[in-house]
Amino acid sequence: MPGIAAPLIAWYRGNARDLPWRRPGFGAWGTLVSEFMLQQTPVARVIPHLEAWLGRWPTPADLAAAGPAEAVTQWANLGYPRRALWLHRAAVEIRDRHGGIVPRDVHALLALTGIGDYTARAVAVFAYGDRHPVVDTNTRRVLARVVDGAAQPGPPGKADLARMAAELPADIDEAAIVNAAAMELGAIVCTARAPRCDVCPLAAQCAWRAAGYPASEDRRRRQAKYEGSDRQARGAVLKVLRDAAPAGVRLDDVVPDWPDAGQRDRAIDSLIADGLAEADGGALFLPR
Ligand code: SF4
Repeated sequence: MPGIAAPLIAWYRGNARDLPWRRPGFGAWGTLVSEFMLQQTPVARVIPHLEAWLGRWPTPADLAAAGPAEAVTQWANLGYPRRALWLHRAAVEIRDRHGGIVPRDVHALLALTGIGDYTARAVAVFAYGDRHPVVDTNTRRVLARVVDGAAQPGPPGKADLARMAAELPADIDEAAIVNAAAMELGAIVCTARAPRCDVCPLAAQCAWRAAGYPASEDRRRRQAKYEGSDRQARGAVLKVLRDAAPAGVRLDDVVPDWPDAGQRDRAIDSLIADGLAEADGGALFLPR
């Protein structure tokens, strides 16, 4: 099969979205914060939150000097608020272990709180210009279709990195573009539900398209419904705490009219267990 690098590079140069973290000089801290926010959250929702976050805490040391409650409050309604706590912890670790500079080494990045394979490599490649494979869910879908002829990728694993590494050009700058381009193609052209093959730079070599788009078992985990979920209850409790911060809220006054009191209490317990809330003297607080 001809390589995917050349057509991806040409396509990316003419079609990539202008996103804040792709602009020159955005920096490793901005890249790290953006990657935390982009886990689980769409680009359009992330951008205003990212700008506000970096405006308030332009360096890891600035965030480390703030309290975790401020981080959770600033996170607002971005969802999955443990990310705010992890980002705060990572900022403290960067200050204490790395002199306030986001590390470049993938292993050092992986040792920070809340950073997995994808984020570590994304920072090393997109912020520092190093040569590593970067694989997100969009890249995995593109490779599954073009190379394997499958509608959806199998479960994620270390093999994903090896197969992407095999597609990267030797040139460091081009390798970074291919990483970004595969993700971008999956995000805006080869989407999960409605691939736009007529404008795809890989159409001529796509095995799935050549095979007539055979269906394959969709093994992606379905996102649970939000309405009525424990996540919604946790979000409601956290909102009350954010609105009251730095003061706390008497436990009896934490969403007292929630339709399922047991669910609300589970939400409170789980927030405490996750370090997102603290109970003290019959009241509940953001972490202090
Ligand atoms: S040809 Fe269609 S299915 Fe194949 S990679 Fe391109 S957009 Fe995806």
